[in-house]
Amino acid sequence: MSAPAAPLLRVDDLNVRFAARRGLFQRGGNADVKAVDGVSFDVMAGETFSVVGESGCGKTTTARAILGVQKPTSGAVLWRGRDIAGLDAAGRRAFRAGVQAVFQDPNASMNPRLRVADFIAEPLLLNVDLSAAERRDRARVALEQVGLRADDLRGFPHEFSGGQRQRIAIARAIASSPELIVLDEPVSSLDVSIRAQIMNLLKALRDERGYSYVFIAHHLGTVRYMSQMVGVMYLGRLMELAESEELFERPSHPYTRALFSAALPDHPDDTREEVLLKDDSVAAPRVEQGCRLRARCPFAMPVCGEIEPPWKEIAPRHFAACHLN
Ligand code: SF4
Repeated sequence: MSAPAAPLLRVDDLNVRFAARRGLFQRGGNADVKAVDGVSFDVMAGETFSVVGESGCGKTTTARAILGVQKPTSGAVLWRGRDIAGLDAAGRRAFRAGVQAVFQDPNASMNPRLRVADFIAEPLLLNVDLSAAERRDRARVALEQVGLRADDLRGFPHEFSGGQRQRIAIARAIASSPELIVLDEPVSSLDVSIRAQIMNLLKALRDERGYSYVFIAHHLGTVRYMSQMVGVMYLGRLMELAESEELFERPSHPYTRALFSAALPDHPDDTREEVLLKDDSVAAPRVEQGCRLRARCPFAMPVCGEIEPPWKEIAPRHFAACHLN
């Protein structure tokens, strides 16, 4: 019997805390905000792992830790079994070539004075040993793979539409032949009419080239379309994790069910039970004890205020943290 495949990326008990200042008239010292609190998951080769949740749930901080731009307070991000915090200079270069990112707003990462060719080739210049001609050739191939023309290499960012600029950002990400691409809300800033085109492009690239994606998103339809595995985060913690179809067919955690209730049904005959959370103005503070959803959860019981619900496998490859299980 062959051994199970090793994950390409492992997020292992990741914790990221930020110091939060108390208000002028509050007593006591500064308190830590647990932006990410004990998050663990694996990403396998060729797989899309999506992280969903409301804004402020810690999904973007998780993405930044995976990219090595946010230092964990504790825990680790392991790339091919090696902690990225301990990589030497050569290892860091290989990591930066192997793990790329596409962000929500392509304008934010584009230098308006840099031609498209130079923008796409920049990571190659930093992380891959190639001649100038080879870099230009790679940039051309990448641009053509995202549906733009070789002539566009000479253009400047302002000459392109929002959707084209996001295609250029994707070309930059794929030019160094990465194994993993972190997609942080890659279509949220685009017109609805363009979103499907970009998602189809990302899916086609993954299927043709075997990339893995960590997909940070809040739009559930897109997540279902893209993902093999989905993790649901709330206030820094994973609440539920399962294969995509399993999660969408049989959501278990009250928070996941509430997220799905808030989204439009896929089909008018969808008669899924509705779960409504209490207003988030009554959200629990970053609690040290008990379930952090308890102030909003319609099923909260006394134990929910006492004990943090354990992470349990409730079906094959389906995990949740709730005392109802
Ligand atoms: Fe609700 Fe309790 Fe489950 Fe938390 S542990 S989600 S409060 S039922």
